[in-house]
Amino acid sequence: MAEHYKPVRYKAWELTLEERFQEYHEPLSEREAIAEANRCLYCFDAPCMAACPTHIDIPTFIKKIATGNVRGSARKILEANLLGASCARVCPVEVLCEGSCVLRADHKPISIGRLQRYATDYACQHKIKYFERGKPNGFKVAVVGAGPAGLSCAGELAKLGYEVVCFEKKPLAGGLDTYGIVVFREPVEVSLSEVKMVEELGVKIKTGVAVGKDVKFEDLLCDYDAVFVAVGLGKVPDLGVAGEELAGVLDGLEFIEETKIGKLADIKFGNRVCVIGAGNTAIDCATIARRLGAQRVTIIYRRSEAEMPAYHFEYQFAMAEGVSFMFLTQPVEIIGKHGKVEGLKCVRMDLEDPDQSGRRIPVPVLNSDFVQPCDMVIKAIGQKKYSEIVFKLAEFGVREINGYIAVDDDTKRTANPKIFAGGDCIRSKGEASTVMAVQDGKLAAAAIHKQLAADPACTHKRTPVTTQPKK
Ligand SMILES: Cc1cc2nc3c(=O)[nH]c(=O)nc-3n(C[C@H](O)[C@H](O)[C@H](O)COP(=O)(O)OP(=O)(O)OC[C@H]3O[C@@H](n4cnc5c(N)ncnc54)[C@H](O)[C@@H]3O)c2cc1C
Ligand code: SF4
Repeated sequence: MAEHYKPVRYKAWELTLEERFQEYHEPLSEREAIAEANRCLYCFDAPCMAACPTHIDIPTFIKKIATGNVRGSARKILEANLLGASCARVCPVEVLCEGSCVLRADHKPISIGRLQRYATDYACQHKIKYFERGKPNGFKVAVVGAGPAGLSCAGELAKLGYEVVCFEKKPLAGGLDTYGIVVFREPVEVSLSEVKMVEELGVKIKTGVAVGKDVKFEDLLCDYDAVFVAVGLGKVPDLGVAGEELAGVLDGLEFIEETKIGKLADIKFGNRVCVIGAGNTAIDCATIARRLGAQRVTIIYRRSEAEMPAYHFEYQFAMAEGVSFMFLTQPVEIIGKHGKVEGLKCVRMDLEDPDQSGRRIPVPVLNSDFVQPCDMVIKAIGQKKYSEIVFKLAEFGVREINGYIAVDDDTKRTANPKIFAGGDCIRSKGEASTVMAVQDGKLAAAAIHKQLAADPACTHKRTPVTTQPKK
């Protein structure tokens, strides 16, 4: 099992509710951090650095820890990734930097994530301000959505002297770092401290403002020189089975959100919980339910263990927390009594040959239905795309791929040269992660800068908006 998720601390009978939702890993002490940093070989052409989507200079930041320059170490991290404190906690390091560390084969890879956390926590605790707002250059950029992609783009642009206004529909900024990533991996305060850092660079974050509803895209295109769209994805989609309206059927993201910003003692949970889906959201919901005190938590997935989208270390983590898995099982109805969930009717599945995407197609086994007793069903089968935003942007010439916003890979520019996009809303294929969203924001900021201030011949400045007629 990956060391990152060794089940060392969770013993429900020993811990209070609050303790069970404390950050999972203890921070490294100074002695531990220096000892770990001294194991690093400071490789030339370091593979760990190449594996980091934001290309943090990992050997240099580790060397600085080894020589006692923690302040300089954090600067190195934040220069490449403004959200380095979040990424230190949430990055799937096992498949990125630590997975590529040359020491992985023979010994133990360097604990890069924990060292990064050590340095960025130091910077936060000592309230070190590394960056200043750049000299105003007269350009204005609107950022739609204050999640990792939006914050990264906004912060980088502010450093270059742009006037940046970020519109966020939720009451708090930070996106899924604030609302969606399970609290024992990332406490809300870490995300909010990064929001504060971006605000201190001069970025104005207007929370409680939904673009498309409270503010029009047309107005942003008129009033700003460029617009960066980083709206992420929406709610968990419906299962499309009978019984979804019953009390005790929950949206997985709302369930996680309660543990992030609500009072733990007030959260209602079932004793026998079925979680539907097998991605990282499902794993988070299942482990949260266990830590709240649910006796039996079962993840129900229609394909097999080999196809499950959750990272392997997350799967092992969930098993270590006492979560059960029911593979090749498809829910077909939620059964209720007096308006409340009482069971989940399922059928067994078989896998046929792969479809075009390469995944084997699940098909029901005849007469295999059965009822799994439960008093709570948590839906965790992914997130809906914001089709209304994609549809609206099409009026300005922005193209889409499978409901995601289509962008140029290097610049994150859409087919409309004034509109850029990044983060989960462009992730039409492959995995999505915080660090990828941060890198999108960085790339978009660089491309916006190249297009505006760095290019005096630019033709995409504040011009009246033209829309294409609706079809
Ligand atoms: C449960 C869960 C667990 C995860 N765990 C991990 C993990 O451990 N590690 C990892 O690397 N990644 C994880 N991810 C993925 C990661 O959180 C996302 O890839 C990342 O947050 C994407 O950033 P973003 O800025 O594109 O979107 P988001 O973080 O979703 O932010 C988008 C923001 O836009 C706002 N918005 C939406 N519409 C509008 C509008 N019309 N007007 C104004 N604002 C709007 C939203 O409110 C939100 O704040 C997880 C995701 C989920 C769902
Ligand atoms: S690959 Fe491992 S040993 Fe080499 S620089 Fe990166 S962390 Fe250090």
